[in-house]
Amino acid sequence: MIALGIEGTAHTLGIGIVADHEVLSDVRMVYVPSKGIHPREASQFMADSMSKALDEALEKAGLDFKGIDLISFSQGPGMGPCLRTSATAARTLSLSYGIPLMGVNHCVAHIEVGRIFCRLSDPLVLYVSGGNTQILKLKDNYYRVFGETLDIGVGNMLDKFGREVGLEHPAGPKIEALAKEGKNYIELPYVVKGTDLSFSGLLTSALQRIKDNKLEDVCFSLQETAFAMLSEVTERALAHLKAKEVLLTGGVGNNSRLQVMLAKMSEEHEAVFGVPKGYCSDNGVMIALLGLLMYDAGIRQGLEESYVRQRFRTDEVEVKW
Ligand code: AMP
Ligand code: MG
Repeated sequence: MIALGIEGTAHTLGIGIVADHEVLSDVRMVYVPSKGIHPREASQFMADSMSKALDEALEKAGLDFKGIDLISFSQGPGMGPCLRTSATAARTLSLSYGIPLMGVNHCVAHIEVGRIFCRLSDPLVLYVSGGNTQILKLKDNYYRVFGETLDIGVGNMLDKFGREVGLEHPAGPKIEALAKEGKNYIELPYVVKGTDLSFSGLLTSALQRIKDNKLEDVCFSLQETAFAMLSEVTERALAHLKAKEVLLTGGVGNNSRLQVMLAKMSEEHEAVFGVPKGYCSDNGVMIALLGLLMYDAGIRQGLEESYVRQRFRTDEVEVKW
């Protein structure tokens, strides 16, 4: 079966086409805001880029819509205007070409792309992106949240820090590059509460420290602190749940320092570590893959169920696959 997935929750319009687990195309168009992501501007960007992205994806796959068996789209969570734009495109295509439609949870898609591409069966998941920071594990057919941020997501924290110090959005990769030049560790607030975390105090403090320290050193210290916090809560959950596999996913999962820290921690617990390199950031492939998993599990959705869900939580999805 061939699925076309449309990702459009925030900054990236992604069109992915997959034939089972094989990626036929992966087109991503990214909105670069001057300040934070403006929902209306981001959705306008998606509307303007939609037909070009679809054409490009089909061309790369050597297909037209007659060859597509399923249209899936990111139903939530995300920014309302962005979700509505991608959902409208998905509904239109489904109706025009008579192709089944499947709305999927964006966070579960981040998990499933990792599980499939890293060949893991039942991992403990650290999901770190702009808006989300969660530690999850499947139990009784739901991805249960064992820990999460109590305020902002770790990616959001990095992007906000970057914006204040003049780095282009998304700041995560630029902070990573600057951190490699940093040598001196500056003590910053380390806030872990059981398996929950908090990043807003860390952000405020890091911004104060740039006045009397080199930016490279602050970036280095910011990463070391935030990623040590993430490693600690993941380790606590791992020990508690006796998991045998650890999966890192979501945009912040691109960070090589975070990958190294989690790989080392996993190794100490004799757990297999996986990160879906190239597919951590938002993309249409993960949406297509999850659509197929759901379809194969017998799930069918009517048009009336395709409304968008801005606050669609990971633990609301029954995992039937
Ligand atoms: P997503 O929405 O899953 O695509 O994740 C987006 C977030 O990932 C943004 O906050 C980015 O700053 C962050 N991000 C992307 N690449 C990196 C990186 N190399 N290091 C840290 N954060 C990153
Ligand atoms: Mg995401």
